[in-house]
Amino acid sequence: MNDQQLIKLLNKLAESYFLLAPQKLDDNLLPGYEYGIREVKNLEEIDWSGAMPYGSWKEVLLPYHERLFDIQKGRLVETKTKYPPIACLAMNILDLKALTLFEQVFANDLYYQKRRRPMLIVGYSTGLPSDYKKYKVFSHNYEENVLEHVIFDIFVSRQKNGRLKFYSGSEKGQLTLDQAGLTDYNNIEFAGPVAESGPDKTLLSIMAKMEKSANKKIWDELDKRCLACGKCVIACPTCFCFDLEDRDNSAEQSRSRRWGVCFYNDFSLVADGRKELDTVKKKIFFWYYHKLVRIPKQYSLPGCVGCGRCIKACPVGININETIKAL
Ligand code: SF4
Ligand code: SF4
Repeated sequence: MNDQQLIKLLNKLAESYFLLAPQKLDDNLLPGYEYGIREVKNLEEIDWSGAMPYGSWKEVLLPYHERLFDIQKGRLVETKTKYPPIACLAMNILDLKALTLFEQVFANDLYYQKRRRPMLIVGYSTGLPSDYKKYKVFSHNYEENVLEHVIFDIFVSRQKNGRLKFYSGSEKGQLTLDQAGLTDYNNIEFAGPVAESGPDKTLLSIMAKMEKSANKKIWDELDKRCLACGKCVIACPTCFCFDLEDRDNSAEQSRSRRWGVCFYNDFSLVADGRKELDTVKKKIFFWYYHKLVRIPKQYSLPGCVGCGRCIKACPVGININETIKAL
């Protein structure tokens, strides 16, 4: 396989999909902010360097604001939304892990499912030693032990000799590769999000430490530093909480949902005016507890995929890796 075949595949996808991919935005942007996910107008714009785009695929999978239904003449009417066929290109392995978590969380969510159905996911690995290391955190056998536990339709991996290797991860992926005239690819059957041997041991150990950490002084330290600005939540590809918003006025009776940010004051506000999360310390503890305890308990998967976006986003330098080390 070589790059010509990748171009052939992309040209085929462009016939029926709206293409989105990581792209280099501007050399003058601050380090870490130069790459973003944008519409592909020209195939040469796609960034294949493996750099982590600052914005995440969450914006595509779970839009910031989504109208769900209207009430018309006393009847519930589902909002007519267009779900275009989108090909999400060059999604790195950490973002595939975030997507795999979303697929569990929103398994029964009608709106998510309608949006996801026409999408095609094309994963990508640069094959760089640093990239390869990330996979080895979880296993030594990249093909079987990593790819079979993440969701994708097509996966493209650059080998040490520079050539590309193609994988299909679904019938849709297989059909697409066939239609593009690519014949030399491996099929990977999805074996569920969790390895046969059970949840990752590191994950379990972090979960146990986090669970008993409420009285640790790390939370007092973070309480003093954190601004509760919520940038970490917005940047994070696995933060999936949302608020429901009802409108009831003469012009509109509807329900929408929008991203919820657990650092904001209204997140835990209840009808009588009380707030469960009424201090910064409680908010930041809640954020970590959701990622490191509640998500792993519910899905046997980590609530953090280690992408580092929250570290880049945080204006006061709070670093999840350092917090985990401190725990
Ligand atoms: S590193 Fe930060 S942004 Fe990335 S998944 Fe973990 S918590 Fe979210
Ligand atoms: S980005 Fe940093 S300062 Fe802002 S809420 Fe998150 S941890 Fe706190």
